[in-house]
Amino acid sequence: MAEATTTVAPAPRARVQAMKEYHPPLGSRDAMRLDFNENTLECSPKVRESLVQISTGALTRYPEREPVEAIVAAHLGLRAEQVALTNGVDEAIHVLFETFLEADDEVLMLVPTYTMYEVYASATDARVVTVEAADDLQFPFDRLMAAITPRTKVIAIANPNSPSGSVAARAQLLELARRAPQAVLLVDEAYFHFFGETVMDLVGTLPNLVVARTFSKAYGLAGLRLGLLAGPAELMRWVRRVLSPYSVNSLALACLPPALEDTAYLDWYVGEVLAARTEFEAALDAAGVRRWPSRTNFVLVEIGARHGEFVRLMREAGVLVRDRSSDPGCDGRVRITIGTRGQMRQAVTALNNALAALRTESRVR
Ligand code: PMP
Repeated sequence: MAEATTTVAPAPRARVQAMKEYHPPLGSRDAMRLDFNENTLECSPKVRESLVQISTGALTRYPEREPVEAIVAAHLGLRAEQVALTNGVDEAIHVLFETFLEADDEVLMLVPTYTMYEVYASATDARVVTVEAADDLQFPFDRLMAAITPRTKVIAIANPNSPSGSVAARAQLLELARRAPQAVLLVDEAYFHFFGETVMDLVGTLPNLVVARTFSKAYGLAGLRLGLLAGPAELMRWVRRVLSPYSVNSLALACLPPALEDTAYLDWYVGEVLAARTEFEAALDAAGVRRWPSRTNFVLVEIGARHGEFVRLMREAGVLVRDRSSDPGCDGRVRITIGTRGQMRQAVTALNNALAALRTESRVR
């Protein structure tokens, strides 16, 4: 039967029509992955053991998250009511925004920062208010404080921030929380393990502080999609009304306790990355490449007008890096994830060759 033709198609909300499309370059990544700040090796072998023990019968059941939430809460020194597991931090951000943002509320964030804050904020009826970091990309604390209004309802801070690698001080986060008691202060500690500083211990002591963590980075479980949100029980009650009870799958739940237990693996991986970062930063300095100070597992570097060719040359050499040129204030800048020392030595060779090729080409031109 011929399909009925119609001239009317269902229209999405006006805010959705105004949203930009976001397609991170996740295709064809069989190379050295220094582009998404993931763990560049593998997860703990204890996690692998748990994965292979999962029976197909177990997959017939819906996942039960509460016992695992209790384990995670105990690990963080919190009560179970204060912690919700999520399908990655992305779901945590989405649900938090859906829970708190109404029309004409303001979401305050610095830019450049993690793209998904703006994606999810612009899908609500709230207004996005951005404060652009200066050229040094340091945390623009005074200007964020000045941008708080009675309508500020969420303040989203990645600490450390991406793609800059910069950090906010604990005292600054406390002041933001106090200055905007009507707002949820989201401190996204996705890169906590590389930084080592946290405000998780303040969860429950400040009425508006919510902290997010992910298992996608140091733990090496990005493919499982596992994150968490921790906040005062009173706020988390509202978050749980919006959060799906099914969104964290059984495989992720089974892998979480061994991932938390294997602190030896985590310490080893983080130590390896920090040692590699020191070496890599020295190599960047030797090559005369401008870089921004980093407290995490990536470094932002200045390549200049030929950033696109640089990324292509690196890819041809088997190393994926992420062009951040379209981020506010980041024209010509590329973010490079830090892997192991062995990987980063290969990356340095690729980088030096790419820079030499760019220099030769510009002389020929
Ligand atoms: N927050 C920040 C600051 C990030 O950089 C990322 C990943 N790029 C995430 C959250 C996403 O975490 P997840 O994989 O848990 O959704």
